[in-house]
Amino acid sequence: PLFSRQDPSSRGLGMTSQRARDRLVDRLVAEGIRDRRVLDVMRQLPRHLFIDEALASRAYEDTALPIGQGQTISQPWVVARMTEALIETKLPRRVLEVGTGSGYQCAVLAALVEQVHTVERIDELLRNARRRFRKLGLSNIRSKHDDGRLGWPEEGPFDAIIVTAAGAALEPALLAQLAKDGCLVAPVGPSGRQGLLRVRHGDDGFVSENLGAVSFVPLLGGVG
Ligand code: SAM
Repeated sequence: PLFSRQDPSSRGLGMTSQRARDRLVDRLVAEGIRDRRVLDVMRQLPRHLFIDEALASRAYEDTALPIGQGQTISQPWVVARMTEALIETKLPRRVLEVGTGSGYQCAVLAALVEQVHTVERIDELLRNARRRFRKLGLSNIRSKHDDGRLGWPEEGPFDAIIVTAAGAALEPALLAQLAKDGCLVAPVGPSGRQGLLRVRHGDDGFVSENLGAVSFVPLLGGVG
């Protein structure tokens, strides 16, 4: 198994958590997710460990859920789509995530790539996420409490960057930390009019495409 130290309990799911994950993955396939690598990881990663126990029974619904501090764990379909978009052309080696939140998206990436760096502006969320990473034995994640709009310049450039909160525009500091041939995926735009952008750093500069409408919490300035 990918996640060596996962909690065997199903925490009130009403069926084994494995069965619930299998059903979620069937649904993701029905809704257009194609990448086997992403589906395999999501079939194994216990999402119920990334949310409060009181909400665990809803962990395998395809929906965003509150994680405290006015923030959410992203909808599984969105996590799958963003991960798929990030690794489609070439599997990156080193990835930067902005907006650790629950840590779920970060854990999906950590199962696929060599190293993930993640930045979160709300300390309490970051501490909870770190506890989950330890519990699952994920040792290839480095995290810090900071304003992720600045990236992590000392550790860059990164082969891929994923932003899990929506900014008004692409952050210049993040583009500056994207390696040549690298790929960045980020929701951009005001509430109600956000698009998921994929930006590639090619020979002639940055090339951007819109992968479709999404709905994310805002990318905020400073630390919380
Ligand atoms: N990747 C997360 C997950 O799997 O649970 C999604 C979390 S939520 C949709 C977005 C997160 O981005 C929140 O935890 C929020 O605090 C964080 N965030 C917002 N602005 C940020 C910033 N400037 N720097 C770092 N994190 C930020």
